Amino acid sequence: MSGASVLDRGEFVMTVCNSCRYCEQYCPVFPAMERRTSFAAGDLAYLANLCHNCGECLYACQYAPPHEFGINVPKTLAEIRVRSYESYCWPGALGAAFRHHSVSTALGLVAVFAAVLLGAGWVAHGEGLWRATAGDFYSVVPHDVMVGLFGSVGAFVLLAFGVGLRRFWREVHSDSVPPSPTAARRALGDLLTMRHLHTTGVDCTSGVETRRPWRRWFHHCTFYGFMLCFASTSVAAIYDGVFGWIAPYGYASLPVVLGTVGGLGLLVGPVGLLAVRRTRDPELGDAGQTGMDESFIVLLLVTSATGIALLLLRNQPAMGTLLMVHLGAVLALFVTLPYGKFVHGLYRTAALLKYASESEAEE
Ligand code: SF4
Ligand code: SF4
Repeated sequence: MSGASVLDRGEFVMTVCNSCRYCEQYCPVFPAMERRTSFAAGDLAYLANLCHNCGECLYACQYAPPHEFGINVPKTLAEIRVRSYESYCWPGALGAAFRHHSVSTALGLVAVFAAVLLGAGWVAHGEGLWRATAGDFYSVVPHDVMVGLFGSVGAFVLLAFGVGLRRFWREVHSDSVPPSPTAARRALGDLLTMRHLHTTGVDCTSGVETRRPWRRWFHHCTFYGFMLCFASTSVAAIYDGVFGWIAPYGYASLPVVLGTVGGLGLLVGPVGLLAVRRTRDPELGDAGQTGMDESFIVLLLVTSATGIALLLLRNQPAMGTLLMVHLGAVLALFVTLPYGKFVHGLYRTAALLKYASESEAEE
């Protein structure tokens, strides 16, 4: 479906829902919809990113297919969500990437980056690349090279996130009043608990009258796993840059403990999410986004698996090879972050903040 017809369809669906209002108790999408009488592109992008695809409203809907209205809110909003990712991303020319992901492309990217890094390692160290170095990563990839490479890629990723978020926010929040601290706290609570993944307070729907807790739990494992890995890298950077404590750190040190727990979360969460996707009702999602969703999950999985293997084998001769493969996976993950599924977390956070602001203004 073209971008314009996706929006036309979204406007129709929201107009029907706004007349019906049967689902208003399920999630913030419906109260937010009821505050509006028309649905421009920005309104639809906001509502779409507020939806957590829990599925309740599809199974409750008396106008769902095969009814002639064919109302399927989760699927319609999923299609609008990916359109919003494309519209607000920076640089805009890379917006097409959202629809061209696949697991094989993601793995190919890891292989290319790992091969380039291994080649560079071979040129720099020769057979020394396969010698045990007591877990000293910087003897394989010098500290300055590591900081320069990941610092520049990281800076670009942050810039892309910043521009995308600013574009999204300007479109959905025309109000000049910034969100209050109370609204920010409320949005943060909604984000950290992901309570809209199980809007009825029971569990996530995976089919008609079928509710399971797994989607929520695996999302939590993935989210907190990612945050712990980020915390591990940040603590290691402080150890190195502020205190001058040079890696490798002991197994009981804070960066290693955070990275290990986070890495395990990033193993369990993505494996679980891939399994949940196999059993979930396909009518709840947009089949055209399978490549984007699964390639991101697989990249998280490869990054965490190679990271844990590196930790376990860091004193072995395989360390140099494993380090390059792990860095290749991290690079592939980094460069695809602004043009893949990761952005749903950013826009959803902004949508929750907008919703908390609107709710506060109404109280
Ligand atoms: S999803 Fe269906 S039942 Fe729910 S508000 Fe919309 S039209 Fe009504
Ligand atoms: S799928 Fe769930 S979160 Fe999305 S609009 Fe329906 S009830 Fe709300």
